[in-house]
Amino acid sequence: MTQHSATIIGAGIVGISAAAFLQRQGYSVTVIDRVPPGEGCSFGNAGGLAFSEVVPTVHSRMLLKVPRWLMDPLGPLTIRWSYLPKAMPWFMALARNSLPDRVKAITAARADLALRVVSDFETLLKAAGTADLIGYRDTLRLYDSEAQYLAEEPERQAKREHGFEMKRISGGEARELEPAIGSSVHCGAFHGGWYFLANPGRAVKSIAAEVVRNGGVILEDDVLSIERDGNRVSGLRLKAGGRHSIDRLVVCAGAYSHLLARQLGEKVLLEAERGYHMLLPNSGVSLSRSITYARTPGAATPMEMGLRLAGTDEFAGLDAAPDYRRADALWTQFKAVLPGLRPPDHETTRWMGRRPGTPDSLPVIGPSRAAANVWYGFGHGHMGLTWGPSTGRLIAELMTGMKSNIDLTPFRVDRF
Ligand SMILES: Cc1cc2nc3c(=O)[nH]c(=O)nc-3n(C[C@H](O)[C@H](O)[C@H](O)COP(=O)(O)OP(=O)(O)OC[C@H]3O[C@@H](n4cnc5c(N)ncnc54)[C@H](O)[C@@H]3O)c2cc1C
Repeated sequence: MTQHSATIIGAGIVGISAAAFLQRQGYSVTVIDRVPPGEGCSFGNAGGLAFSEVVPTVHSRMLLKVPRWLMDPLGPLTIRWSYLPKAMPWFMALARNSLPDRVKAITAARADLALRVVSDFETLLKAAGTADLIGYRDTLRLYDSEAQYLAEEPERQAKREHGFEMKRISGGEARELEPAIGSSVHCGAFHGGWYFLANPGRAVKSIAAEVVRNGGVILEDDVLSIERDGNRVSGLRLKAGGRHSIDRLVVCAGAYSHLLARQLGEKVLLEAERGYHMLLPNSGVSLSRSITYARTPGAATPMEMGLRLAGTDEFAGLDAAPDYRRADALWTQFKAVLPGLRPPDHETTRWMGRRPGTPDSLPVIGPSRAAANVWYGFGHGHMGLTWGPSTGRLIAELMTGMKSNIDLTPFRVDRF
């Protein structure tokens, strides 16, 4: 039997997972990335396997909050106004996708994709010898007032419909669970059954190391262009390494993937939803679970490196310089619920990452419609760590002609 080879562009959680699952199907794999594995967006996220987040990132109720958020340049959502005309088609599509019937369909597709995220992640980490990085931990959402809690009831209801239960607890009960929580917190929603990674970047690197141990190759290079031969891709032009021949190509290039799809003539609406984190090795706060706070989208997650405050959404394009005041703003916001939070010190680090965001909060998973030997896995937005390993498995199944456990129609590349 001839062994197929696959080249994967992108060594984030999605690309490395695709490589690992393709190896299981007998493929020889090469992963190309301009940076080492796990150093793109997959490096600095909040570490949550957020499979119960079935409601799309943006929906009509959230749109009502947007004008207030936009008034504050350091608020949870910001658009650099000079960039707005370029992002306009994406925002128009976002508005269409926030209508109730679309939200319902998107929620169902997200719930489908979530079905096997824990077992797929565990499969990869166990093989890599780093299963200790994944931990079963609840999460707690905090509210300032009853009105704030009630405003989120529709999202909780949608989650319940897909089997995810949350329990309302009082502010006092929240403080019993997490003594670091301040007295201003009115109540909380306790989500059982979540999983967190103690270090997302290390997790990706460990899976990449296992791919290499199994004979895979990881090339550090920049893919400049894609060469075609009829309806197939024949090669890649690399910045440092000349030409790389292609048998089968998988594009998992995160927030840059639409640039590669465009070279094949496929239009994809993808925006870099730029998020920030502040990592505090000396936070002064001890948390045993991740918390989120309804006033500000973001999470405070205890990790092996310290407390990571992660969140915010900035639309400024791929290349604009980071505005680290947004990471500092996360500190200010979380200080309101974690009064013991110490100020940043010389060990504190700040980071910006580009979430690959589609306007329907669903990734692209499946074959190219323009080239016979190309598959896509990108556009995971706020959920890439969660869905990355399952996407890798689904791509490997598609490429070997196996039947998927879910309907992949909502993830087609030609839906934009
Ligand atoms: C603040 C923040 C918090 C988050 N929290 C969570 C969370 O708790 N849970 C969750 O599930 N998700 C979370 N996410 C989202 C998650 O991190 C992303 O969805 C995920 O990392 C995307 O993975 P990826 O493999 O698609 O992209 P990446 O990790 O960015 O990998 C893509 C790679 O492609 C490479 N590349 C692109 N173009 C080329 C080219 N032409 N040549 C060579 N290489 C190329 C890039 O260098 C990059 O390394 C968060 C994101 C942010 C920013």
